[in-house]
Amino acid sequence: MMVVKNAALTLKMEIMNLHELKILMLALLIGVYQGCLANTYSVAVDIGHSKQNPGATSARGKPEFDFNRDLASILQQVLSADNIMSFSIGEHGDIVDAKQRSAIANAQNARFFVSIHHDSAQLKYFKIWRWQDIDRPYCDQFSGFSLFVSRKNPQLQKSLHCARMIGQALRQKGFTPTHHHAEPIAGENRTWADQQNGVYYYDNLAVLKTTNMPAVLIEAGVIVNRNDEKMLEQFSTRHRIASAIIQGIRDCKVLD
Ligand SMILES: [Zn+2]
Repeated sequence: MMVVKNAALTLKMEIMNLHELKILMLALLIGVYQGCLANTYSVAVDIGHSKQNPGATSARGKPEFDFNRDLASILQQVLSADNIMSFSIGEHGDIVDAKQRSAIANAQNARFFVSIHHDSAQLKYFKIWRWQDIDRPYCDQFSGFSLFVSRKNPQLQKSLHCARMIGQALRQKGFTPTHHHAEPIAGENRTWADQQNGVYYYDNLAVLKTTNMPAVLIEAGVIVNRNDEKMLEQFSTRHRIASAIIQGIRDCKVLD
């Protein structure tokens, strides 16, 4: 009788263990599933401007939107190669409302938002040169990258830390920040957040203040500068910029 009772107890314990094992397996599967979801949409790559509003025009007449799209494409390739999953916003050039961009990133629960842009300068600094039989405005006075964060973003400290780390990585790869957005004139007059690493505050930038996650806008270089434009069109330059952005994202641990 005792043997039967012990056998029944052992059976009951095995059933319980099986039940617990099932719960454990389910929890593990949910964890893996959530991990996959989190990784699937880690980084939102926002392609600045649209076909309707293409942004700045380069010294040789190319729209900023094209530069943004081409750099974003390489950034996504390098992210993928580094096992960081991303999705792009505005790659077809059909998003006109900036809030739509942050709404997409928020809906996808992106863990980091980076908006890709290329820079210009104030009109008073432009000169005219002739390129392919057309007179075109250019400005060689300013050169380099800029990074922007908004103090209205709900995760300012993380945004700022990531912008600093991206700026630092760009500097380590030989790029230099431009200081022209801090000039106290109309259209500029931005406050430095980190001068050494090229980070400014731009509080009312819609994509930065309406995103729920840490967000940074990068002006990768000055396309109205004739030398910068040529350099920024090269695959090797784009690849170095993309690698620096990824290095910065890793260093600021926003995806951990
Ligand atoms: Zn732009």
